[in-house]
Amino acid sequence: MKVKKVDHIGIAVKNLDETMKFYADALGLKTVATEVVEDQKVRIAFIPVGDSEVELIESTSPDGPVAKFIESRGEGLQHIAFRVDNIEEALQELKSKGIRLIDEKPRKGGGGAMIAFVHPKATNGVLVEITQRD
Ligand code: ZN
Repeated sequence: MKVKKVDHIGIAVKNLDETMKFYADALGLKTVATEVVEDQKVRIAFIPVGDSEVELIESTSPDGPVAKFIESRGEGLQHIAFRVDNIEEALQELKSKGIRLIDEKPRKGGGGAMIAFVHPKATNGVLVEITQRD
């Protein structure tokens, strides 16, 4: 597997619009797109920063995974996403190395990407997302 770069850093927030305002007003970073990802019960915003992005994530439901994350750990850094050329190959390689995965198969993420999460128990506590964008 070849990891090309940090694709984005995911940040869990309670209020997407307020947080986007901070990034815009304080840091001069503009949101290029917002999107609802139904199966994850989230609304996300992508904010390009140089060659990577910040992904702000707001739960759309109190029982969604991000709502639960905020409930137990508070707002803040939620995951880091590494971009690969071939996500199927990357997941096969991780499996063959005995790495525990949350997603055995890639699924649709925001921005048309294919994504899969690695279990934080396998990564010393950091939720790692593998992502492929064409
Ligand atoms: Zn992400």
